Amino acid sequence: MVGLLSLLACNGDRLPAGDPVRPDVILVSIDTLRPDHLGAYGYARSTSPFLDSLAASGLRYTEARSHSPWTLPSHVTMLSGRSPLDHAVIEADRRIPDDLPLVQEAFAAAGFATAGFVSTIFVSDAYGFGRGFDRYEDFNIAQEDNLQHTVRAEKVVNEALAWAHQQSDKPIFLFVHLYDVHYPYLPPEPWNYQFDKPGSRKSTRYRNYEFYKAKPLPAERMDHLRAQYDESLAYADAQLARLGDAWAQSGRKVSWVVTSDHGEEFGERGSWGHAHTLYPEVMRVPLLVSGAAVSSPAVRHDRVGTVDVAATLAGLAGLEFASAGVDVRGDVPERDHVFETSRFDTARLGLLSGNRRIDVDFERDRIDVFHVERDPAEKIVTLDSDPALEQRLYALLGEPWSTAETVISPGWMLSGGKRVDHRFEGPGRFAVYPQDSAITGATTRATPLPEKVVLSGETRAQLKALGYEQ
Ligand SMILES: [Zn+2]
Repeated sequence: MVGLLSLLACNGDRLPAGDPVRPDVILVSIDTLRPDHLGAYGYARSTSPFLDSLAASGLRYTEARSHSPWTLPSHVTMLSGRSPLDHAVIEADRRIPDDLPLVQEAFAAAGFATAGFVSTIFVSDAYGFGRGFDRYEDFNIAQEDNLQHTVRAEKVVNEALAWAHQQSDKPIFLFVHLYDVHYPYLPPEPWNYQFDKPGSRKSTRYRNYEFYKAKPLPAERMDHLRAQYDESLAYADAQLARLGDAWAQSGRKVSWVVTSDHGEEFGERGSWGHAHTLYPEVMRVPLLVSGAAVSSPAVRHDRVGTVDVAATLAGLAGLEFASAGVDVRGDVPERDHVFETSRFDTARLGLLSGNRRIDVDFERDRIDVFHVERDPAEKIVTLDSDPALEQRLYALLGEPWSTAETVISPGWMLSGGKRVDHRFEGPGRFAVYPQDSAITGATTRATPLPEKVVLSGETRAQLKALGYEQ
């Protein structure tokens, strides 16, 4: 009886019919999702029946990568189609520049109803992500008293569905960001014991990457965390299936793009977490393109990136959007892929070019080169330098800028591929990395620095307690 009533409620509460010509477009970002934990990518556990169905009827990319191993830069890349070195929103106090075009603006300009429903501070409107959306629901997560309130997938999907029900027959562009697969991996019942014993907030409270590196978790605990991660994914998948059902029942045409901002390290480098390194366990992401605008399913091995998401979204709707990426449904050219992180006092750059990946760790003054075809897990260092690759990488840092005066910076700078001191006197030409915030005396700069986001002391303390600040 209950089932019948809920069925009737669904049938009586369909989404509006939609535009018969222009399909809706839905972008789903599942934070911290490794592709190898999805059924569609060969995982043994049943974590993702809904996403697997999208993959089976659409395009599944086996070689998709993010360009940053943490949330803020990666989502700016997704929505702008610019690499982190280009948009420069690579520190937790950087706001999206007002003149950086975002793909949702193209949808709004073309007459789509646009909305985003997101569940972490680093995709919140505090950073400017709401620009171009008619409705941007970040659940006030940037407020310190809300930071510890988990915004579960069910709540995100409920709000997204409620908004969709209020729409007219205009086509929809919907962005859904779920945080359930990010630590502390605490899915609700009954998912919390699907693969293992239930977790508890105490047992899974995240400390930080260096803590687990110094005190590696026992294999049994890591297995338990992996099970909780998988349960969180199964829960998120079930919630996304509700979106899928709502669209299917309404008969609205819809195209889907499903991806993630980065993966997660479960002991591959002796620790747990993400943001510190550029290895494949954190840089590989799923990418599925499915639905109305995809005519025949395929598994694609082209090397693509989250830099391509914006162009693909625009392409699905037949819109123009200038970016550094390509619509991955078409021919994908051979390109270099760049990676960076300066989170938590790290300073790494990476470049994937042909069958080689160079990893430059400025903090440790170390360069590693991997052969990614023979060694896709990047466990074996084949060379400790590759000047040609290094030069290609540094060229991507942007136009050098010059100064004739004293330069003072809170970080450090890169000049001719070499790290230089915080204070530099006299004329010089620099590519700056990380993007320093308080440079004085610079006479010319190729690109202006992004505006700062000021978080309160209480917010920063809360972020630290959650393991987001270290
Ligand atoms: Zn993230």
